[in-house]
Amino acid sequence: MCGIIGYLGEDQAVPVLTDGLERLEYRGYDSAGIAVFESGGINTIKSNGRLSALREKIREQGTPQGTLGIGHTRWATHGKPSDYNAHPHSGQNGKITLVHNGIIENYLELKAQLKAEGVEFKSDTDTEVVAQLAEKNYNGDLIETVVKTVSQLNGSFALGILCEDYPDTLVGVRKSSPLLAAVCDKGCLIASDITALLPYSEEIYRMEDGEICMFTKSGAAFYDFDGKPIEKSAETVGLNAKSADKNGYEYFMMKEIYEQPETLRATINQYLTSEGRVDLGEASKGFGELKDINRIFIVGCGSAYHAGVVGKYVIEELVRIPVEADIASEFRYRHPILDNHTLVIIISQSGETADTLAALRLAKESGARVMSIVNVEGSTIATESDCVLFTRAGIEIAVATTKAYSAQLATLYVTAVYMAQELKTVDDNEIRNLEHYLAVLPDAVEKALGTKEQAKELASKYYEKDHAYYVGRNIDYAGAMESSLKLKEISYVHSEAYAAGELKHGTISLIEDGTLVIALCCCERLLAKTQSNIEEVRARGAKIICVSTEDNVKALKYDDLLLVPATHPLFVGSLEVVPLQLFAYYAAKFRKCDIDKPRCLAKSVTVE
Ligand code: GLU
Repeated sequence: MCGIIGYLGEDQAVPVLTDGLERLEYRGYDSAGIAVFESGGINTIKSNGRLSALREKIREQGTPQGTLGIGHTRWATHGKPSDYNAHPHSGQNGKITLVHNGIIENYLELKAQLKAEGVEFKSDTDTEVVAQLAEKNYNGDLIETVVKTVSQLNGSFALGILCEDYPDTLVGVRKSSPLLAAVCDKGCLIASDITALLPYSEEIYRMEDGEICMFTKSGAAFYDFDGKPIEKSAETVGLNAKSADKNGYEYFMMKEIYEQPETLRATINQYLTSEGRVDLGEASKGFGELKDINRIFIVGCGSAYHAGVVGKYVIEELVRIPVEADIASEFRYRHPILDNHTLVIIISQSGETADTLAALRLAKESGARVMSIVNVEGSTIATESDCVLFTRAGIEIAVATTKAYSAQLATLYVTAVYMAQELKTVDDNEIRNLEHYLAVLPDAVEKALGTKEQAKELASKYYEKDHAYYVGRNIDYAGAMESSLKLKEISYVHSEAYAAGELKHGTISLIEDGTLVIALCCCERLLAKTQSNIEEVRARGAKIICVSTEDNVKALKYDDLLLVPATHPLFVGSLEVVPLQLFAYYAAKFRKCDIDKPRCLAKSVTVE
């Protein structure tokens, strides 16, 4: 959500900034802007719309010449997307110019104070308040000014700051919004995520909440929010710039769909011994005494929440402990009943999701144990959890998640098997059976990718429909929720997921001749029940696409079929979603949508 880049070095800043913004654009694409320190002062160019519009404007106005600059791609929270709300923002005397990711919660109060003191605002953003306030606070010492300013702000903010009196200084600030820093041969950079830094350096400084970095030509310095210098060292990340390339695919989403087998192998193999036994290693310590756990919550947002719903079915089945899957933004405000017998499983791809992070903090305050499933090492959620099981999805760029979701499911299976094994809620033969299906899951997902052409054909047949209903029971229902979200987020087809038995309690009134219903039919023991629900909508004229396995399909009636390989009944969620990711992808493609950057959305939701 919003991309910040900053550069100070020997090279011209504009190419570094615009290339960085291109790599960060998936985090927000309402507007883009840069500010570059030129010999005559700070030159800011910004434009509503995509980065391409900014590039055009830079061409028209002439490329700013300078080796220090900041840039931003925006996901608007305060003020509509427009040129004047685009970042960077400056104080009214142009002394301070900055970019911001996050929300300043007390911006109205600060804005009123500043207005009363005669400050004139040029935008509707909360961000401009920071620039104006910093300029008011400016006393000639940049660090003192930043320290004073951040002490007056509530909310979340990652900032990249330039000051007119400091022609060779770049400042970065992090509080509750991600920011990373890197030093390379040609200079130093700050960025919201690693994708923008990898072309320059694999040595990354992970900034923590409450830290400030100050880069000058003579080196890097780090401070806390009291202005005290702190020591930080860079770490080498096991990624390179290629990890964030399309590798010949038209869209990142397809590349990432195809990376699922590899992602699953990397994720699952961390927790399987050479004998194929589940072993969480060090991570198991964070669970504490398993027999003391009497309740589990799985908390996430969007697809991570859907993974949690699958996890609920799997863990309850294997471990026989009550599990609630909850949406983080609901969980955090509903006074959930938590104590030291509660295990809270937090799921987040980025490890920075604002609501999920707040849920984690609430759980910890309440004495619950917190285990997180996270894709980004060093992220805030990973750092604050009692234990972390990392998904190994690598960098995911498409806004609609595919491989990270799959890796979250696999990690939940591993967790369930581990707990069942430790608590002896399942006999050892069944544990071995589960371990076998875990080990071969990546191959099964690879086979499921063989539905590509068929999914494309069905998408070409149905893409003009205005509505779609996804139905299923149990794990199939969770799969329906995730598959429905995929379709709506990238193709803008109105789509809803229903527990198959629930449709007739109201929503069936929307089924008419030709309505598209996608029935997920992989949970064998509930097949006959789902088939009855299929009949109910067929009787009202619905067109049915069934997703099922060879063994199950005999019991079903449908118009079209997507067949996936068989697996353990508890792992079907990993397979049935694959053809429906492909279906959503092609529906979006036929509808000429921007698959990787769907409207109004952005990756990594770091605001509430
Ligand atoms: N709240 C700021 C704005 O609306 C920053 C949003 C972002 O993180 O992109 O401009």
